[in-house]
Amino acid sequence: MAVRTFVGGIHPAQCKYACDAGTVTAPVPARVTVPVGPSWVGYKVLAPKGTEVKVGQKLADNEGFMCVPTHSPVSGKVVDAKPYRAHTGLEFLGITIESDGKQELCEGIAPVEDLDSMTPEEIRNVIREAGMLGMGGAEFPTHVKLSLPQGVKVDTVVVNGGECEPYLTSDHRMMTEKADKVVHGTYIVMRSVGVKRAIIGVEDNKPDAIAALTAAAGKYQGIEVMPLKSSYPQGYEKAIIKATLGREVPPGALPFSVGVVVVNVGTAAAISDRFTTGLPLIKRYVTVSGEAVSRPATVEAYIGTYASELVELCGGVKGELGKAIFGGPMMGVAVPSLDFPITKGTSGIVLLGRQQALFWKEMPCIRCGRCNEVCPMFLQPSEIHKYALAEDMARAEKLFAADCMECGCCSYVCPSKRPLVQSIKLAKQYALARRKK
Ligand code: SF4
Ligand code: SF4
Repeated sequence: MAVRTFVGGIHPAQCKYACDAGTVTAPVPARVTVPVGPSWVGYKVLAPKGTEVKVGQKLADNEGFMCVPTHSPVSGKVVDAKPYRAHTGLEFLGITIESDGKQELCEGIAPVEDLDSMTPEEIRNVIREAGMLGMGGAEFPTHVKLSLPQGVKVDTVVVNGGECEPYLTSDHRMMTEKADKVVHGTYIVMRSVGVKRAIIGVEDNKPDAIAALTAAAGKYQGIEVMPLKSSYPQGYEKAIIKATLGREVPPGALPFSVGVVVVNVGTAAAISDRFTTGLPLIKRYVTVSGEAVSRPATVEAYIGTYASELVELCGGVKGELGKAIFGGPMMGVAVPSLDFPITKGTSGIVLLGRQQALFWKEMPCIRCGRCNEVCPMFLQPSEIHKYALAEDMARAEKLFAADCMECGCCSYVCPSKRPLVQSIKLAKQYALARRKK
């Protein structure tokens, strides 16, 4: 049987250097800066400067539906709570804690004993209180994703083990080393939305992960592990729904419109951790890789650890650094320095060498159509780009610029090296702002 996939996409070099190195556990950092949010507006700081805190203690919270609390990854003292500019360029409230090295647990941290007698709403509340955000990079609040609008029903949970971005290996290591947790978290998510079927989609270039997950899933009813073709962007929500179930999410719609809820494998494992250990989301797997890293590895690190410390743990910078990226090279964010703390959505820190970070001179469009062929959203990137450059955003919007998933496939294949994704992003922002109005 043919391995399942979506339509379009590309096959960039994988460069998964960190994959065979196993996972390194980062030591407790001397200092962390924990970002509050998804957006910090309206958050109440519960541990102001000078407060002694313990591991798992709530640092800030906001009652808004789209908000989750922030917890301390270390025990120690809050030395600062002030706005800082995050790696994305956006301003966040950061709570800086100096660790006392004792890692004393906060009172009340305890596993959930009675999962099977809990209602879906109670399960979602535990997930919210644990500060769960999408760990694939989007950082969308998980409890919101699992709270379906009135009258909407879904029949399947899709667990995203695509990890199609070059260099990134954190999901691969998670699925191989913590398959039981990924599957247990999948079961909890199924309970939270009331479905009896889940599919864990994994690219077929990760046979060890597929084997580990298949063995773990055998202990549960209704959880299937499905190998998918290795192709970029297989890990994009709409692409993995098409690949696993053959369903197409209409433009502008969300996965629940086709009866599906999607969560990332890292999120599933973190949810399992909360139910089995009581710990909120304070740690994650981060890939530290790239031609300019001495010893690429996947690192289990505390949220709020500075990227520079994780790079040092992997032997430091090797040769001449061309570009540093938070996330993968296709959808990640280039950063001016490593002096930024990791967040719940930081899947990787990729350091490219001079050779890999070469900037190409852009040439006029030769109308070859390659960008149209690879676009997984069936857009016309060259046309949207043309109108965006002409600042004719209304025309760009009519060509569905808002549906661009910013995967970068169009820019990747363009022989003229047109900066397609950058201009389409602008048109998308314009279209989304207009929709909001
Ligand atoms: S237009 Fe958007 S969705 Fe389509 S290939 Fe380009 S970046 Fe990806
Ligand atoms: S791939 Fe580049 S050169 Fe070809 S049509 Fe698209 S924008 Fe033009």
